[in-house]
Amino acid sequence: MATPPANHCVMCDNTGTLRCTRCQTAYCSLGCQSSDWDKHTYLCREAQNFLDQNRPQPNGPNTIWRRSIWFDPASTRPKFRWV
Ligand SMILES: [Zn+2]
Ligand SMILES: [Zn+2]
Repeated sequence: MATPPANHCVMCDNTGTLRCTRCQTAYCSLGCQSSDWDKHTYLCREAQNFLDQNRPQPNGPNTIWRRSIWFDPASTRPKFRWV
């Protein structure tokens, strides 16, 4: 298996190859991962539910779906949606 490409850390401007094994969120270091963990536990679970339940089928003109985090002004919690 090839070395995974470096990804932009969600916590800082560094790049790294660490990823959450469940939702694939990228981190540059264990320090960044652990400092994000409190809110990540919510996002991670949400991401998994989102992937399992709502992923659009890749048929029709739109074959590539990207997951985005959507900050609903009416809610304190970010949500995911497909774009
Ligand atoms: Zn970082
Ligand atoms: Zn995760």
